[in-house]
Parts: sequence; structure tokens; C-alpha cells
Amino acid sequence: MKLSRTQKIIKFFTSKALFEKMMEDSKRYRFTCSNCGKESSIWEIGGIRYKGTAKTKTGAWCLQCKKFGLQDIYKVEQ
Ligand SMILES: [Zn+2]
Repeated sequence: MKLSRTQKIIKFFTSKALFEKMMEDSKRYRFTCSNCGKESSIWEIGGIRYKGTAKTKTGAWCLQCKKFGLQDIYKVEQ
């Protein structure tokens, strides 16, 4: 799996177990692109979110249309 720069830095400073928890959490935090409607997870766009609050806004790149926008983040249970 290819990690983003941010993910690599966090991996360096955390234990393997904690990093895996963070990865799981980051995959649950998702947003739907306001431009094209594609749903992506924070993890997929190279970010990390752990034990954060859901329902916040964050600036994120959409992987599909490459548009940067302020996205509504929500958490999905898997
Ligand atoms: Zn998009």
C-alpha cells in the first residue's frame, strides 16, 4: 500500500497497532465531493483522522475530478 507523506510521518511516530487503528478510523471518515459526487475516505486522499469528531468540514482534494473544496466529513460504521 502506498502511503502519503503525512501518513508516513505519522507511521514513524506511532506503534504499528496504533497506526492500524488510525488507518481503520481514517477509512471510516468519508466525504462526498460537492463537484462530482464521488465518495472518498480521508485515507484515500492521503489524510489521517483519528478519534476526531464527525461532521466537520475539511479542505480535501477529490480523487476523481481533482477539485479542491471544503468537504463535509461524516463517519460511516463498517
Ligand atoms: Zn469530485
